[in-house]
Parts: sequence; structure tokens; C-alpha cells
Amino acid sequence: MFTRKIYTLYFILLTLYLCGCATVATRGGLPGYSINGVDYLSLVSLCDAKGINWEYDLITRNILMSKDKHRINLRLGEKMVLVDGVAQYLKHPVDIYEGTVVVPLNFKGQILDSLFKEYIPLKKITMPTVLIKKVVIDAGHGGNDPGAIGRTGSREKHVNLDIAKRLGTLLKQEGIQVIMTRSTDSFIPLERRVNIANDAQADLFVSVHSNASRVKSLTGFEVYYPAFDIDDSRRALYAAEHAKLNLGDSFYSTPTLNLKATLWDIIYNYDRAESIRLGRLICNVVQRDLNCKILGVKGARFQVLKGARVPAVLVEVGFLSNSGEENFLKNSYYRQKIAQGIKDAILDYARDY
Ligand SMILES: [Zn+2]
Repeated sequence: MFTRKIYTLYFILLTLYLCGCATVATRGGLPGYSINGVDYLSLVSLCDAKGINWEYDLITRNILMSKDKHRINLRLGEKMVLVDGVAQYLKHPVDIYEGTVVVPLNFKGQILDSLFKEYIPLKKITMPTVLIKKVVIDAGHGGNDPGAIGRTGSREKHVNLDIAKRLGTLLKQEGIQVIMTRSTDSFIPLERRVNIANDAQADLFVSVHSNASRVKSLTGFEVYYPAFDIDDSRRALYAAEHAKLNLGDSFYSTPTLNLKATLWDIIYNYDRAESIRLGRLICNVVQRDLNCKILGVKGARFQVLKGARVPAVLVEVGFLSNSGEENFLKNSYYRQKIAQGIKDAILDYARDY
């Protein structure tokens, strides 16, 4: 887990406070600070006083506060705060002082007091709306890249393409627009595959693969989603610089690059959560309908998923290296059932939305 609570820092601060060593002024019983003439409060003390849970992600420097049904997202160095998905602006950025996260004094009056005394619904700024209208299906490998090769010679690229085409047909029957990264036995570079989804502004990207392992007994079905990447912040900045955002002008009140990057970062996290949700649905349906062994939903830094700006999953439909599972995958009825399972999960995903 990348998310850790920094209680230790709080205790260091508390010790300093009790010893009278830190520059601490008391504001309503809460440790307060004057930083360059601006009044700040300790976020930890504020959360403690109000019984608010909080998590601090050391890598992305995002802070998530939650209580009851409310969620507040903050980020070190940023004035923008998302309160239940609604952007609000502080006069001064969230900061760190003597090892503890501090928030401008008006954060309490402007956001916390009103939120936890009486909840006033604010004008909703929507995250990008995802209705499942357009799905990009990616049949893994192709052309001179055969992928895994089964014990009796089945080639992953053919298995993947057959399932991908079946899935495409089933989704089209549901009125969903389908874009195939390949519909023939051709080689498509990995980057281009995900760019097809980004450029088409697809609602989902589903990559179909078959597995292989040196352990011949290994069987099962698994789904991967784009894992948290240390480069996410850089990627968010890149996206802010290069991508058409299509989020609507209302999304920004000050369209600075930094803010755009922050929003992209939030969107990546949001897409990742959606990818996991879809992955779980796929596993549930496949387990129920095919009685398949499920190896789980896992994060991975697969190149084909990297850079996806839409919810994206990579489905490993079974192990060609296991002769039993290779036999299943050679059976068109079984491949159809897998395609149906993925289709049903996508419809469940859309219904839940
Ligand atoms: Zn593969």
C-alpha cells in the first residue's frame, strides 16, 4: 500500500507542542501557525477534533479526508480542494510545516464547519461522464508476435482475436459502438493500441490475452488493471500539456497547467478505481457462468494499459501452457462463453453507473 498515515509526524509535533518548542499558537484549542503572515491550522488536530478519518499518500502528496458520506481531497501545495467532487478554492495552499500537514485557517470555516454541521449541496462539477457507448477491444499480439504457444500448438494471437471478435459482435448487439485495435492477424505496436482508445475517447478499453506459465499445472482466469505508477504525476502533467481534456469549460475556473495536472491525476485515480470495479465484475460473472478458477484482479504496469486515459482492463482468459485449459480454449463454445461473460460484466458495469 502506498497510502500511509503519518501519525508519527503528528506525535513529533505534539511532543514539540507540549514542550513548547514549536511556534504554536492556540486557536480554539487547535495548534495554529503563522507562516509568512498567513494563519494555518494542523490538519491532524483538526481531523481529531472533528472525528474525521484521513489518509496521506506520500508519493502523490494527496490527502483524502472522509467522514460519514463526505470525502474531501486535498493536495500539498494546492489551493484547490475537492469537496464531495466539487472544486473549492482556499486563499492559500495546503502546506507542510515542521513535519505536519497544515491548512489555511479559512479551510475550517469555509469547508469543515459547514460540511459537518449542516450539509449544503453545492453545484456539482461532474467527473467525465462515462456512459458505455464506445468500447475498444484489443486482441493481444498478432502478426509476427504469436504470444503464448500451447502444448499442442495453439497460438495466443488466434485465441485472443477469436474471443475479441465474439465480444465485439455481442457488444454491437447491445447497441454499443465497438472499435477493434485489430481484426486480422496483424502486428499492432502496444502504444498504438491504447492510443486508439484515447483518440476515440472510448468509455472502456478491454485487452484480451491468454496466459502462459512455466508451471504447467497453473490454470485460471485473471484480470489486470493499470497499476499505480510512480510516474503518475509526471504522466498527469504530460496529459495536461498535450491532451484535449474534453471536460467542459465549467471544470476549470483557473485553467492553469498545475490545476489541469491535478485534475488529470484525480482522473487517473478515478479510472483506476473504475478499472478495478470492471475487473471484479468480469471475474464474478466468469466464475458464476463458467465455473472458472479465478486468480483475481491485479494491478500491473503492462505497457498496453499504460497511458490509458479511460478505464482499462487486460483479461487473461486462461493458460495455454496447461493442456486442459488449452483444450477448453480450442473449443469455440467455451470461447463464446468467455466473450459472453465479459459482455455481461460490461453491461453490469454500465448499469451500476
Ligand atoms: Zn498475451
